[in-house]
Amino acid sequence: MSIIGNLILHNTIVGDSLNLLFLSTPVGALGTGLGGGVELTLYNIAQAMQQRGHRVRVIAPSRSQLPQLDIVTVTGSLQVTAQTQGRDAAIALPPEPVLGAMWEAARRQQPHFDLVLNFAYDWLPFYLTPFFHIPVAHLVSMGSITDAMDAVILQAIARHPERIAFHTRTQAKTFGDVPETCPCLGNGIDLSLYDFCETPEDRWAWVGRIAPEKGLEDAVAAIAKTGSKLTVWGKMQFPDYWEEVRRTYPEAKVEYAGFLPTQELQRQLGRCRGFLMTPKWVEAFGNVTIEALACGVPVVAYRRGGPSEIVRDGETGFLVEPDSIEGLAEAIARWSEIDRSNCRRQAETEFSIPAMGDRVETWLRRVFSNPKSVV
Ligand code: UDP
Repeated sequence: MSIIGNLILHNTIVGDSLNLLFLSTPVGALGTGLGGGVELTLYNIAQAMQQRGHRVRVIAPSRSQLPQLDIVTVTGSLQVTAQTQGRDAAIALPPEPVLGAMWEAARRQQPHFDLVLNFAYDWLPFYLTPFFHIPVAHLVSMGSITDAMDAVILQAIARHPERIAFHTRTQAKTFGDVPETCPCLGNGIDLSLYDFCETPEDRWAWVGRIAPEKGLEDAVAAIAKTGSKLTVWGKMQFPDYWEEVRRTYPEAKVEYAGFLPTQELQRQLGRCRGFLMTPKWVEAFGNVTIEALACGVPVVAYRRGGPSEIVRDGETGFLVEPDSIEGLAEAIARWSEIDRSNCRRQAETEFSIPAMGDRVETWLRRVFSNPKSVV
């Protein structure tokens, strides 16, 4: 037990285990898909930490559901996603924000925890960091989007570089001169949920939120050019955008198959010849890339953002000049050159839950043992 100011902290460590308080994304309830890849990332990290004997509690918006996790839900209005904002967007909170309620709950519960891990890409958690008595670590889930977020993230890095982690170096670089002491953790998935499929059908896959930053139109353009078939899975975030893409390429053989739970998604994804990853933004990581690899599906991705640090060009897929439809079409034609077992093997060695768990645990122990602030 330690005493800081007038607050008594009961966060003594039993053995080596840590008491971890995870703060989820405020843009949607866990399990709805609104949180995008963050939902899976949070769940997988929580599982990895629990398997290692750490205690995890998650604070999340109401109606959040995650099996086998201690979740405290709070009510309030959801935040607008950062990626729909302009670069000079002001910081905005709705009346009775769920984000405020989540961080108020974290403030009250901190005496029972060793460390807070924030998954929200929002200004308030970074701003609040120095006001907490226990260390607040942040896993930044997107690249630079607004000036206000850049400023508050860089401020947090200046105080405590080791507390701010990214998924990839490319993502970190979008914020400018980020020191090497900020770790890049990649990501991990439960590989037992993904089956290796050796013999694919004659179709390609595209998986992601149906949203402009995900660049579905380029995948559809390349599919139209090659005459191949494409199945699209993911949250229908912007139906107008989907309609526009369909109108622009009426000849493309494209079907939308909805938003599926992981088990069903991986079953169908695994049967595809290849996976197209065509983001227009710097994808911080791109969970769907490693999900495809786990099923043995080669990935054709733009040489941009997270996927460019994941895909091994010519071995587990192809990296293509960003925004080049021609490049995509050429890579699509070369699908049979990739040995699907290489894809599964890469997922096993680099992106399993234990591999990710090692990286995250090392990081959190470093944060916990380094409580002093630079500023
Ligand atoms: N996803 C899903 N069902 C679907 C389509 C997507 O569960 O039908 C999940 C997918 O498995 C991944 C997430 O949605 O975990 C998308 O994450 P990603 O990092 O690729 O993109 P984000 O939406 O975070 O930008």
